[in-house]
Amino acid sequence: MSTLFVRTLREDPADAEVPSHRLLVRAGYIRRAAPGIYTWLPLGLRVLRRIESIIREEMDAIGAQEVTFPALLPREPYETTGRWSEYGDGIFRLKDRKDGDYLLGPTHEEMFTLLVKDLYGSYKDLPLSIYQIQNKYRDEARPRAGLLRGREFVMKDSYSFDVTDAGLDESYRRHREAYVRIFDRLGFDYVIVKATSGAMGGSASEEFLAKADVGEDTYVRCTNCDYAANVEAVEVRPPAPRSYDDAPAAHAEQTPETPTIATLVDHLNEKFPRDDRPWTAGDTLKNVLVVLAHPDGTREPLAIGLPGDREVDIKRLEGQMEPIGIEPMDDEELRKHPALVKGYIGPAALGSESESGIRYLVDPRVVEGTRWVTGANVAGSHVIDLVVGRDFTPDGTIEAAEVRDGDPCPRCEDGTFESARGIEMGHVFQLGRKYADALGLQVLDENGKLVTVTMGSYGVGVTRAVAAIAEGTLDEIGLCWPRQVAPYDVHLVATGKDASVFDAAEKLAQDLTAAGLDVLYDDRPKVSPGVKFKDAELIGVPTIVTVGRGLADGQVEVKDRRSGERADVPVEGAVERLV
Ligand code: ATP
Ligand code: MG
Ligand code: MG
Ligand code: MG
Repeated sequence: MSTLFVRTLREDPADAEVPSHRLLVRAGYIRRAAPGIYTWLPLGLRVLRRIESIIREEMDAIGAQEVTFPALLPREPYETTGRWSEYGDGIFRLKDRKDGDYLLGPTHEEMFTLLVKDLYGSYKDLPLSIYQIQNKYRDEARPRAGLLRGREFVMKDSYSFDVTDAGLDESYRRHREAYVRIFDRLGFDYVIVKATSGAMGGSASEEFLAKADVGEDTYVRCTNCDYAANVEAVEVRPPAPRSYDDAPAAHAEQTPETPTIATLVDHLNEKFPRDDRPWTAGDTLKNVLVVLAHPDGTREPLAIGLPGDREVDIKRLEGQMEPIGIEPMDDEELRKHPALVKGYIGPAALGSESESGIRYLVDPRVVEGTRWVTGANVAGSHVIDLVVGRDFTPDGTIEAAEVRDGDPCPRCEDGTFESARGIEMGHVFQLGRKYADALGLQVLDENGKLVTVTMGSYGVGVTRAVAAIAEGTLDEIGLCWPRQVAPYDVHLVATGKDASVFDAAEKLAQDLTAAGLDVLYDDRPKVSPGVKFKDAELIGVPTIVTVGRGLADGQVEVKDRRSGERADVPVEGAVERLV
C-alpha cells in the first residue's frame, strides 16, 4: 500500500448517481477522463483482468478463438450494411488527413464478416467462432452510472459462422451455455430473457440481465412458467379460437353487398385522382389515412394509417369495409393522428399473412382506452380473435411500454407477469444471413455450390460487469468483492509502530503469496489503524488480516469483509486457514 498507485477519497464524487460508481471512484479503482470515459487504476485493472480471464476461459472452452480488431475502422463496410447511417449520432466519426471517413467501432459484425470472407472459402472451414475483448465506442445519449453506461467500454464480442441453420442453432446454444457458466462464475443473480435484436438485426435473441434496481432494462417473468422477456420483446398471447357468435357485431357476417375493391378504386379516382393515370387494383397505398365505414353502420368508422414505411396493397382491403375517406398525410402527421394513438398498425398485423394463410387487419380505434383490439380477417368472413394490442413489430412482438404486472402470460394458462429491473450483461443473437448477404460472405458447399454463411453475434459487457458486480455486492461501508473477481485475495494490515509487527506481517505476506494468494499488504508506517481499516473496508478485498497487538500472544486477526466475523488465529496457522 505504501507504493500502490491509489488514493482513497472520503468524499463522494459529485457526478456519481449510483453506489457502485461512487465507491469505485472513492476506493481508487477508476477516474473519470471525460463523460462516460474512464481511466483504470491498478486496483480496477486487476478486477477487470480477472473478469476477462473468466470470460476467456469459457470462450476458449467452447472452441472460440481470440483475435483483436482495431477500434478505428473504415466507413465502407458499415456503409454497405447501412449501419453508417442507421447509427446516426450513436457513433464517433472521424476524418483522416485525406478527408476519408472513419468510425470508432461500436460493435464489429462487419469486420468479422469481412475477415472470414478474406480467409475462408469452403464449407470445410466451418463452423468457426472467433472473439475479441476490446474497447467499443458509442456516443450514448445518456452516459450514466459510471461504467454501467460508458461511451468507451470493453466488450467481449464473438461471432459464429456456419453453413446451415442447424449449425447456427448449435453455435448459438454453445455460446448461450458458455454465458450461463460465465455469469454463474461471476456470481450474478441473473435472468435470461427474450430480447429484440436492435441495431444488430436478425432473429432469435436473448439477454442476460443481472437483477438490479439501478438497471435500465425492465423485464417480465411469468409467475407460473419459465417465460421471461424484456418488455421491449414481450410476445402477443396467441389468439385462442373463438366462436363466430362471440364476434363483435361489426365484424360479423359480411353480406354479399360488402363493398369490394372496385368501390375503393372508384373512390380513389373520384376523390384523389392521380396525375399520371387512374388508380387500379394493383396499386399500393402509403402516406395516407384510410377511413373505412363498417357496412352495417353499427360502429364508428375504422381508420388505418399507412406511413411511408408501411404500405398496403389495395387488393388487400377488398371486402373489408366501405371506404369513406382517404387523406394523404405525411409520416409525422400520421404517427400523431388520434385514430392511431394506440392502435398503430404494424406490418405484422396489417395485410400480412399468418401461418394459416389468414390475412388480417386490426382496428386501431377499438384499442383506445382499452388494452385489447380486435383483428378482422381481411376476407371479412370471421373474426380471428382478440390480440393484445400496442405497436406491432415485424416479428410479431409488441412494443410493450404498457406491459403491466398481472398481464396474462403468453405461454401458459395460469401465469401472469411480474416485472423487475435488470442490467443487460450479455446478449446473444442469431444474425442469420443479414451481414453475410450484405458483404458477400459465401463458401462452397459439398456440391461445389456457393452458399451464404449464417452468423451469430454474442456480446458481454466487461467493464459493465465490473460495475454491476460492485453494485450487487457492495454494502454501506464500501465495496465487497466476491472472491473470484476481487483485486486481491487477502488485505493484510500491519498496525502500530512495533518493528516486529511489520516483520511478522511482511513474512506472512510472503508466505501467503507463496501459497498462491494475491496479497495487498498495508505496510504504511505512519498511517493510523483507523485509516487502514477504513481503507480496507472501502477497497473490499474479501479477507482482511490484521497483524497488531495480538502478535505478542502469537495471534493475528482474520476478518471476513462481508459478514464482519472476526477470529483470532495463531500466526503459524494463518496460511492454512486462508488458502
Ligand atoms: P444497452 O441496451 O444497455 O444499451 P445494447 O443492447 O446496446 O446495451 P449490445 O449491442 O447488445 O448492447 O452490446 C453487448 C453488450 O455490451 C451489452 O449486453 C452490454 O453488456 C454491453 N454494453 C452495451 N453498451 C454499453 C455501454 N454503453 N457501456 C458499457 N457496456 C455496454
Ligand atoms: Mg445500447
Ligand atoms: Mg439492450
Ligand atoms: Mg443488447
